[in-house]
Amino acid sequence: MAKIRVGVNGYGTIGKRVASAIAAQDDMELVGVTKTRPNFEALTALSKGYDLYVPEDNVDAFNAAGVKIAGTIQDMLKKVDIVVDCTPGSFGEYYRDMYKEAGVKAIFQGGEDHSLTGISFNSTANYSESWGAQLSRVVSCNTTGLLRTLYRIDKKLKIQNAFVTIVRRAADPGDSKNGPINGLEPSVKLPTHHGPDVQSIMPWLNINTMAVKASTTLMHLHTVVAQLSRETTTEEILEILRSCPRVRLVKSKDGIKTTAQVMELARDLGRDRSDMYEIVVWEDGVKVVGDTLYFYQAVHQESDVIPENIDCIRSMCKAVQDASESVAKTNASLGIPEN
Ligand code: NAD
Repeated sequence: MAKIRVGVNGYGTIGKRVASAIAAQDDMELVGVTKTRPNFEALTALSKGYDLYVPEDNVDAFNAAGVKIAGTIQDMLKKVDIVVDCTPGSFGEYYRDMYKEAGVKAIFQGGEDHSLTGISFNSTANYSESWGAQLSRVVSCNTTGLLRTLYRIDKKLKIQNAFVTIVRRAADPGDSKNGPINGLEPSVKLPTHHGPDVQSIMPWLNINTMAVKASTTLMHLHTVVAQLSRETTTEEILEILRSCPRVRLVKSKDGIKTTAQVMELARDLGRDRSDMYEIVVWEDGVKVVGDTLYFYQAVHQESDVIPENIDCIRSMCKAVQDASESVAKTNASLGIPEN
């Protein structure tokens, strides 16, 4: 079967990781990536052997800087079957129209609204809903994290209601503009948008969320409280969590007490860009009291959605019908262990 030809529009935090992951697949070809400015990321992309495409208005800036380009974004669209759009949220409508005109499929990210595509994607919860679709959206890092754990718990124990507090990283590690760098900032618009975003894939789930921005760049942390339809045990929940794809259980008594040690583990594992693709749950922080479940999970915002983008490409391009087959293939390519 011919390889799926993929372009990545927007080579930032998410786009550069999606590009590396595509390059690691044996059933995909990375046609190129786009950059708006001839900066160090453009030069690094070139050094990796990726072709660079740029907006028409920016061609002169690249030529003046002597940075080699392969053409414009429109030129890239002529060569691909599908584009993974990793531009900052809010460019969605503009690019959706451009992709439509070029006749290529497109995946957007969680910064765009569900209404842009009408379909949202998560490998565990709804792989088949994007089968053959022209447009889809991989939900945000936090929503991906919640779906990875809550979907399987809900399937087994029917969640009556879930309440999640999200302690959010203030900025990504490569970002020196955002904050706060000192203090905690509550999201005062309540409940936060994360609950409705989970409902874009699990519309039946009664879930509410609050969020606090914290002075850290490493990861988000969720505190989850879920009321289940019956009494259960901590061990039954741990069994479910052990079966969830891309969920990693760690123990605080093994020395992983904070998100700092989680990311040190990712570095020790030798992951590309030191990424932790899995949602990390503290095994000794899972507790059931009667029918109420309490646990903590950490989300590496820069990377948890990357394997989801790869699976979404396979679903939309009708490459692999079975979700677990695509998940296993993606996991093997990125060094994510099977549960
Ligand atoms: P980013 O700012 O790191 O990268 C965006 C890239 O798009 C940059 O390289 C920028 O130069 C480029 N760009 C800007 N305008 C462009 C244009 N008009 N055309 C083409 N490229 C353009 O952003 P990011 O963090 O990678 O976020 C991308 C998307 O992924 C957003 O929807 C965001 O909400 C979502 N997302 C981000 C994270 C995260 O934590 N960073 C996690 C999950 C999902």
